[in-house]
Amino acid sequence: MRRDEMTGCFGEFGGQYVSPELKRALDHVAEYYQEIRGDAGFQEELAYYLREYVGRPSPLYHAKRLSEHLGGAQIYLKREDLNHTGSHKINNALGQALMAKRMGVKRIIAETGAGQHGVATATVCALLDMECVIYMGTEDMARQELNVFRMELLGAKVVGVDAGSKTLKDAVDAALEDFAQNYAHTYYLLGSAVGPHPYPLMVRDFQSVIGVEAKEQILQATGRMPDYLLACVGGGSNAIGLFAPFYQDKEVQMIGLEPGGNGPQAGQHAASASYGVPTVIHGFRCYALVDEEGGVQDTHSLAAGLDYPGIGPEHSYYLATGRAKYLPISDSEAFRAFQVLAEMEGIIAAFESSHAVAYALQLAPTLSKNQIIVVNLSGRGDKDAAQALRLLQKDKEVGGVASA
Ligand SMILES: *Cc1c(COP(=O)(O)O)cnc(C)c1O
Repeated sequence: MRRDEMTGCFGEFGGQYVSPELKRALDHVAEYYQEIRGDAGFQEELAYYLREYVGRPSPLYHAKRLSEHLGGAQIYLKREDLNHTGSHKINNALGQALMAKRMGVKRIIAETGAGQHGVATATVCALLDMECVIYMGTEDMARQELNVFRMELLGAKVVGVDAGSKTLKDAVDAALEDFAQNYAHTYYLLGSAVGPHPYPLMVRDFQSVIGVEAKEQILQATGRMPDYLLACVGGGSNAIGLFAPFYQDKEVQMIGLEPGGNGPQAGQHAASASYGVPTVIHGFRCYALVDEEGGVQDTHSLAAGLDYPGIGPEHSYYLATGRAKYLPISDSEAFRAFQVLAEMEGIIAAFESSHAVAYALQLAPTLSKNQIIVVNLSGRGDKDAAQALRLLQKDKEVGGVASA
């Protein structure tokens, strides 16, 4: 594997394209992380909280009814939705916050899109008694009102970001600026496998618990490896957490499902692997959606957590080398899958995760009954229920996203 864990380059992707001040802050984190990575005391403490606080291991559930209904491959759901706070994001938030605490830092800042990473960060800050400031686009704040309240309830300060498209990418800019200025006493807890080194590496490591568990669980349940791994890709943390531990298992095919939104026109989606080009955004090199002048494009997705104009460097590397495939799923396909999973399995998945479920609905019938698909169910859909209701009501009136 051509990746350099000291510089954070995955082939030509990753790296640190940042100001000297920010580079100093990042190098400090990278050095500390290399120390702590092999530290048995740290790993034990992390394992303790993952087990006792998050509730790991999360089940790998055989969705029998859905599999039978589709008449093809067996579908297994990795239930990250059952984690404390309702998504995979807590795995990473906990890892980084425990590290920051050991570094002696008292103030944590973070960006959030859907609000899930903000809630996860606010949660671990409450748990570990640290000051917490969350940057969030004002558009996302309106879409995810309840998560804003949750963060405040957990003792965090939520700072609205009114710049640009008022979504995740603008919140990232604001958080990076704060970090560059205040790194002496502040730790930036980044929520996805993106950003400059060492974040993609750290986030991958902290999320790899998903794939490590899934491999053990599928072998235990079936005695064989899965044929396909499916996961939605915003920045790519839940997907890389599932994929990376299977990297060497060449018989396992990996497919990342991207937010195809309303279609391939610029501004209507956030499918960075499908429609993006290799470039530098937010301090790292990756496939990203940029316009002719190199400016970051506006993005759209039904799922706020997927609304990001790039994919992580390790995914970029998997894409460039063909190790994984990335396909767009439209808003309406994701919304349909959201409904199907609820009806067939009694599981209300997040809109984000529903992108991965949507592809399982397409793929399973084309495979045989002894083949296996593992779907990463990255989060639960309680946060999306109110929006789903509005969509269905609108659909009754005019025929909107839900009718397709
Ligand atoms: C944030 C989020 C995602 C997208 O983030 P990745 O880093 O791409 O995993 C996916 N699913 C849920 C439930 C989320 O909250």
